[in-house]
Amino acid sequence: MDPRILIVEDEEKLARFIELELAHEGYAVRKAADGRTALDMALKDDYDLILLDIMLPQLNGLEVLRRLQQAKQTPVILLTARDSVMDKVSGLDAGAIDYITKPFAIEELLARIRVALKHHRAPQDATGETNAQGAAEGVLTWQSLVLDDRKKKVTVSGQEIALTNREFTMLKILLENRDIVLSRDTLLERVCGYDYIGETNIVDVYIRHLRAKIDEAFGLKMIQTVRGAGYVIRAEQ
Ligand code: CA
Repeated sequence: MDPRILIVEDEEKLARFIELELAHEGYAVRKAADGRTALDMALKDDYDLILLDIMLPQLNGLEVLRRLQQAKQTPVILLTARDSVMDKVSGLDAGAIDYITKPFAIEELLARIRVALKHHRAPQDATGETNAQGAAEGVLTWQSLVLDDRKKKVTVSGQEIALTNREFTMLKILLENRDIVLSRDTLLERVCGYDYIGETNIVDVYIRHLRAKIDEAFGLKMIQTVRGAGYVIRAEQ
């Protein structure tokens, strides 16, 4: 069955654009243009994922998220405005699994949706796949690299490597978003926190450390720089 996605967005043109793109990708899409309708729809039907704008008429997105979370665990990706740092924090605190900042490239949204659907399959999906994934929960692998989030342990070809907390967090974020290019700003926010006020080149410093400990130490080329865009872990290109 095609994954069911609910788009909650009051900007009609944007909602329509996302709807067409998602339908083209084979998702079963429905739309809501205000918070109250969205909450009703989300409570009544089961969706695999909800894309939720924050600034909405009637009931704002955060309120929709809070009320929804009291009833069920539908994964939610927030659509936020560039300058609303507090919204992102509150949204993630309220249980959103991810957010994307408007304006965004549709390719990034599609990539985040794929990641979300892969990692947050709804429990009503009784294919057994959910359980199989659950067994390896917290373990991320890529080629010879294994990151165990619960044991806070990283190995390359079975050899353990020592990372600082922030290096570990950055590697984890890169692995969770494999094949998605993450900007310095995104990495900075996620690794150092939303309220970090320091040098933004701290991201490059951690990347350099990770490369020294993983790529250079093992003759690999996992962590790639995409000029003008950011960093990504993916197969060599
Ligand atoms: Ca809006």
